[in-house]
Amino acid sequence: MSYEAVIGLEIHAQLLTATKIFCGCPTAFGAPPNAHTCPVCVGLPGALPVLNRQAVDLAVTAAVALGCDVHERSVFARKNYFYPDLPKGYQISQFEQPLATGGGLTLPRLRQGSGEAGAEGEKFVQLTRIHMEEDAGKSLHEGFADSDRKTYLDYNRSGVPLVEIVTEPDMRSAEEAAVFFETLRQILVWLRVNDGNMDEGSLRCDANVSVRRVGETKLGTKTEVKNVNSFRYLEKAIQFEIGRHIDVLDHGGRIVQETRLFDAAQGKTYSMRSKEEAHDYRYFPEPDLPPLMVSDERRQKIVAALPELPEQRRRRFIEQYALPPYDAALLTQTRGVADYFEATARHSGNPKASSNWVMGEVLRNMKERAIEIEAVPIAPDALAGLITIVEKGTISSTVAKDVFAKMYDSGRAAADIVAAEGLAQISDSSSLEPIVQKIIRAHPEVLEEIRAGKDRKFQFLVGQVMKETKGKGDPKLVTELLKAAIGT
Ligand SMILES: [Zn+2]
Repeated sequence: MSYEAVIGLEIHAQLLTATKIFCGCPTAFGAPPNAHTCPVCVGLPGALPVLNRQAVDLAVTAAVALGCDVHERSVFARKNYFYPDLPKGYQISQFEQPLATGGGLTLPRLRQGSGEAGAEGEKFVQLTRIHMEEDAGKSLHEGFADSDRKTYLDYNRSGVPLVEIVTEPDMRSAEEAAVFFETLRQILVWLRVNDGNMDEGSLRCDANVSVRRVGETKLGTKTEVKNVNSFRYLEKAIQFEIGRHIDVLDHGGRIVQETRLFDAAQGKTYSMRSKEEAHDYRYFPEPDLPPLMVSDERRQKIVAALPELPEQRRRRFIEQYALPPYDAALLTQTRGVADYFEATARHSGNPKASSNWVMGEVLRNMKERAIEIEAVPIAPDALAGLITIVEKGTISSTVAKDVFAKMYDSGRAAADIVAAEGLAQISDSSSLEPIVQKIIRAHPEVLEEIRAGKDRKFQFLVGQVMKETKGKGDPKLVTELLKAAIGT
């Protein structure tokens, strides 16, 4: 019997504001517990919420970039439940009238080995809604035995602004879900709406998973896997759930609708609470906040300020600069790298060489040093300077890598380093000829082998001459002179 998986995602993304959604407390991560709190965000009686304007602008930015309809009027609602990390006894969220509905996201590519659409296939995943809400605090548990078990509460995160992005159940494999989450993260970070930091919990994903027989249109019973904070874990958790559902059904069992957690160490999900114990949230409109009004004018202003999105930029790089799709995809991973590449290409007038340098030395240094593009000390015009002297043949590409390293460490211009250190390429025969003769004299046995037909040995001599010139010999000229000297 063959089955098909049906997956929908709910993503919580922290909005990149300086202060919380309903009070002036800072949102900065890593402060001592409860340092960033006030009567509003710990829910003291009589404290009143005031909506953060910047949080609304960021939520609207995400919504318009994702093609949603932003509603002129939306309503904050109380979601009532008791939990120690929620001191008010309710979370302020949006329910019946969310900020935005509709929209969606095209998955740019599926990784290899995926079925239906193929490697270059595109898939559109529709969004149900985007709404705003506040985050809860954090419980930290310690100890296992009943006698020494303790729970600590940190309300620094309480009241941090979030958007919840809910998809339709449009995904059909764990891989599609992981690619969706990755693509959404890239866009939110690109928009500077979210910092993308999943380790600090500023982006988290819940997955609703069910399976049904192929050809069936009715949805199967779903389970929800909560709070997954990595693409790889999301894929593994969904994969595990799909397998578990199929196994239960194949053995004549029944799927229980429940919330589950993923144990990364074991690679398994386990039950957290069943539907029977689930809350009735008794939503009602938040009486302390007026309806949220987003005027057409305000929305238009945000639309006008939207940056070119990664997918549009990737396509433009292919067309405008004639870059291979591989280059364009790599260069548009982040907005900073894309900007850096474009500035380098503009200054150097050579897009492909600029692409090679950014994909090569620049990204390699960023990875090795674990830094972002903004921290790379070589400015795009300086890198363009290096590209220009390589193009002119002033230095070889081998020497150019050393010059790059020296530029990185010293902040000096490429041309200055080349002049000061005498690194210019030797491309006149009169300087190279004596070196060629010296190498030939030093290796008579190699010469005999070449004359006996071992062509491979020729590269050895080229290498020796290059070594003697400390990499500065023009390799083409060295090859010509050697050939002439040996008489091959
Ligand atoms: Zn506060």
